[in-house]
Amino acid sequence: SWYSPQTGIYSSKYPSINLPTEPLLDVVSFIFSHKHNGLHALVDSASGLSVPYSKLSPLVKSMAAGLHQLGVKQGDVILISLPNSVCFPIVFLGALSLGAVVTTMNPLSSLLEIKRQFLDCNASLAFAAIGKVDELVNALGGCRVVGVPEALDVNSLSSDDSVFHNLISSDHAMAPRPRIRQQDTAAILYSSGTTGRSKGVMLSHGNFIAMVEIFVRFEASLYDYPSSENVYLAVVPMFHVYGLSLFVLGLLSLGGTIVTMKRFDAIEMARSIEKYGVTHLHSVPPILVALTKKVKKGCASKFRSLKQVCCGAAPLSEKSITELVESLPYVDFIQGYGMTESTAVATRGYNTIGAHRYSSAGLLSPNVEAKVVDWVTGAHLPSGSVGELWLRSPGNMKGYLNNIEATMVALDKDGWLHTGDIVYFNQEGYLYVIDRLKEVIKYKGFQIAPADLETVLMTRHEILDAAVTGIKDEEAGEIPVAFVVPREGSFLTEAAAMSYVAKQVAPYKKVRKVYFRSSIPRSPAGKILWRELKNMLISRL
Ligand code: AMP
Repeated sequence: SWYSPQTGIYSSKYPSINLPTEPLLDVVSFIFSHKHNGLHALVDSASGLSVPYSKLSPLVKSMAAGLHQLGVKQGDVILISLPNSVCFPIVFLGALSLGAVVTTMNPLSSLLEIKRQFLDCNASLAFAAIGKVDELVNALGGCRVVGVPEALDVNSLSSDDSVFHNLISSDHAMAPRPRIRQQDTAAILYSSGTTGRSKGVMLSHGNFIAMVEIFVRFEASLYDYPSSENVYLAVVPMFHVYGLSLFVLGLLSLGGTIVTMKRFDAIEMARSIEKYGVTHLHSVPPILVALTKKVKKGCASKFRSLKQVCCGAAPLSEKSITELVESLPYVDFIQGYGMTESTAVATRGYNTIGAHRYSSAGLLSPNVEAKVVDWVTGAHLPSGSVGELWLRSPGNMKGYLNNIEATMVALDKDGWLHTGDIVYFNQEGYLYVIDRLKEVIKYKGFQIAPADLETVLMTRHEILDAAVTGIKDEEAGEIPVAFVVPREGSFLTEAAAMSYVAKQVAPYKKVRKVYFRSSIPRSPAGKILWRELKNMLISRL
């Protein structure tokens, strides 16, 4: 049975999958070890230039050889701050196959944010869009930054002598073959988890191998059509665990075609779906809403190729679900749930074999266990109860970088990851995410850690105290709002506080509203009572 009343553990309804047990195995060789008939691996949506599967593995090996020549060694950390492109997976996989560790970040991040992350994970090399290289070199104190083009013409590599092209034109026979263990860290992605500032989430090669098997390849095995004929639109970002797991890793093992979009744009998205015959669209709520709007405007015929639309990373309203399902009735609509700390693995709406439970986040993936607990006592609750979700899976992170204390809060001694999400499982084992215990704000699916914004506000002399929380927003899901206690006699205005933050953070993290107050409600231990702040906001609005 998939629920044990004694232990309170929910197991996957699917049989376990045997994961590779050899200690020496890296995710890049694992992905390339799978045979398929795929032709085009990656296509740049704007130019149509593509990287065929026959050239992908050699390009990745050349990248590894080139990085080796640049002096990159096993264990070195490389920062990638790039929009989606056909080059992103080549850099990422090239670095990983060398045993290097990659940390990714939003290319819209401010120089201050990039510098903070670069130093926090002790990176030694960065990859950024060509136009950003000079300012980044300055910000990172002269560190090497490689400019990455938007697209790649694999047939005329020799005509270009940029650093990037030199890297991918290196003799791939020169790539070293390091001994990489499954337990070695492969990537450091930033997330605030259940509390505090954003922290480096260490994901191992083994975590990614499990993700490829139990999340991506398992789902593909449920369909009777060959995945190598699928066309996926990569519009959700590759720097986030969602896009990274799918477009940079998992799906490349199946042989499908990945069409990369530099940034989300509703018109471009509709054009690309039609032009490339996209069959699978992975989205976050605002993308899905934009798609539905297009269909309602009479573009439905453009989307005939679509077979599946998936949504994840943030809650989706009942209204958006109904509109989508009604406007594209032939499309298999599913939701998925996961988090950075679980390598995206947790649940998927495996609807081909079950009923359509559109507002559910789906069933537990194979090899994943869950508990729903009382968030005050940690005691497990009876089947069907509402409580905090805990997960135990081979996707669970190694821990937070250089932060044992935060790791112990997130991952307990029995291996349970405390998600900070409030959920319940229905009688059939479908997961429903209903609220969040944790402070994180989700703006269009992107994470914003309130503590990061509070830290920025507190660097301003005129600010005595500050607290940031999220409020619901129709378009973005949630937006950050700040409560600020100005120093007595200061001339600070709400607008000045807002623009002070805006200058220092990525645009999506901007504080959208500031309220001045005489104090911030705090617990005796000094913790911000943000439920109280939220209630205050609700009554004010
Ligand atoms: P991240 O680490 O950025 O992927 O954020 C993970 C968090 O996003 C989860 O802990 C949830 O709070 C939220 N989330 C992810 N998927 C869903 C979903 N399908 N429905 C509601 N919230 C979600």
